[in-house]
Amino acid sequence: MSPKDTIDDSSRTKPVDKILLGPGPTNIDERVKMALSREPMSHLDPDFFIILDNISELLRKIFQTENSTTFAISGTGSSGMEMSMANILEENDRILVLKNGVFGERMSDVASRYGADIIEMNVDWGKSFNQEDVIKKIKSISNLKAVSIVHAETSTGILQDLNYIGEYLKNTDIIFIVDTVTSLSGVEIQTDDWGIDVCYSGTQKCLSVPPGLSPITFSDKALKKIKRRNTKIPSWYLDLNMLMNYWGSERIYHHTAPVNMLFALHEGLKICHEEGLQNRFTRHKENGDYFDLKLQEMGIMPFVDKTKYGSLPMLKSIFIPQGIDDSSFRKNLLSKHNIEIGGGLGHTKGKIWRIGIMGYNSRKELIDNLFNVLGPYIV
Ligand code: PLP
Repeated sequence: MSPKDTIDDSSRTKPVDKILLGPGPTNIDERVKMALSREPMSHLDPDFFIILDNISELLRKIFQTENSTTFAISGTGSSGMEMSMANILEENDRILVLKNGVFGERMSDVASRYGADIIEMNVDWGKSFNQEDVIKKIKSISNLKAVSIVHAETSTGILQDLNYIGEYLKNTDIIFIVDTVTSLSGVEIQTDDWGIDVCYSGTQKCLSVPPGLSPITFSDKALKKIKRRNTKIPSWYLDLNMLMNYWGSERIYHHTAPVNMLFALHEGLKICHEEGLQNRFTRHKENGDYFDLKLQEMGIMPFVDKTKYGSLPMLKSIFIPQGIDDSSFRKNLLSKHNIEIGGGLGHTKGKIWRIGIMGYNSRKELIDNLFNVLGPYIV
């Protein structure tokens, strides 16, 4: 057999498009596809700089901030997490990390790699933090440099209120780091009013742009902290000062920006603004409620107790109905019906599903379609 005969030929046939109802990525609008397939242009072309400025301006509107340092990192949502920690923390700096799921745990792991002195606060998965308890905890810790929290915990479906924590932190020297990877453009995020100092997200969730960029914004308070560092920022790739030499007015080359991904983000952001931010929130809320209603009609239990905790409209976690085998069902759903849904993470694996109705995919007909397929399996 010649080496040629052993090459997998499947790439020649067009892959089937899937309906992506997992925790991301989502399907994307035709306009975003067109943007991705445009002829590339140089990342140092003055015409490209206009696009970068537009992206920053549109992101400011979505983050609801006046922060001049607002841009998109070349990297997935985790690069936003990494960048927050790498730039804010120095060795032995104390940070309070709030953990109620996988992504809070990841924040703690990332902070530990920068030598931070980590204090953790935990509540059970599927529960949110009481803001008063968090403020009490913050008050009890001396020399605290930062507090980090996940707004939309994708591993559980919990929506965390932030406003009182931020209001308290505004009048302190403590930096408030918030993960909005799943929530940005799907629910309200008032970066400035809620006193958030570093807010990062991802492109593949409610923005409905493929994975690969991490929108981020830094407050003046955060910038001052970074300026007063005693040590060099330990990551070259995620050094905010160097990146702002490119995204800011100097336009100094740092790395080759992923131009087509930035075209796609630009288009995705324009779509958001044409819809209107508040209309987008309303669409997510209405479709989230519609999903819950369908769930109730079918007698399936949600993982989050909506009467006690904030439940995400764009990411629904549900107990796997009795009698259904998790992995074979999801495999079948994908291969026979071309529908992707997500499994549980960590100790919820095999117990829950995570269903994303985000951005472009927050649509009633997709919810109906899913429940129609699910119906015959429910006993
Ligand atoms: N934070 C949250 C809340 C997430 O849901 C995710 C991904 O699902 C991440 C961070 C990490 O993002 P990425 O997988 O794009 O690196």
